[in-house]
Amino acid sequence: MNKPQLMHYEKPKHIKDYPCGPAAPAGTLVVKNAGWRTRKPIVHKEKCTGCCLCYLYCPEGTIFKENKKVGIDYDFCKGCGICARACTHKAIEMIKEGENGEY
Ligand code: SF4
Ligand code: SF4
Repeated sequence: MNKPQLMHYEKPKHIKDYPCGPAAPAGTLVVKNAGWRTRKPIVHKEKCTGCCLCYLYCPEGTIFKENKKVGIDYDFCKGCGICARACTHKAIEMIKEGENGEY
């Protein structure tokens, strides 16, 4: 359950410089959340059992273990809401981006 590493990525200037495969190795990301997320997941720690089901479903790998519960890396979360749907304990709530004063 490692957090993804941010890799320095120089955007190619010419079409011939683009790689023919993935631009970054597994376990790395090339950009942080670009600011287009409209909703974000909030973990209600008192309801969370630490079962990690949300971690298994998150397509971005942005959920990590934190003091026997889970935390979310908002630098990389895209706000898809899959974790909230997957959590059988209803411990994750999707709120409007910025609603809690944090982005
Ligand atoms: S699925 Fe729900 S209860 Fe399980 S770790 Fe994730 S937030 Fe906590
Ligand atoms: S909203 Fe989507 S990307 Fe963000 S933590 Fe949940 S499942 Fe992962």
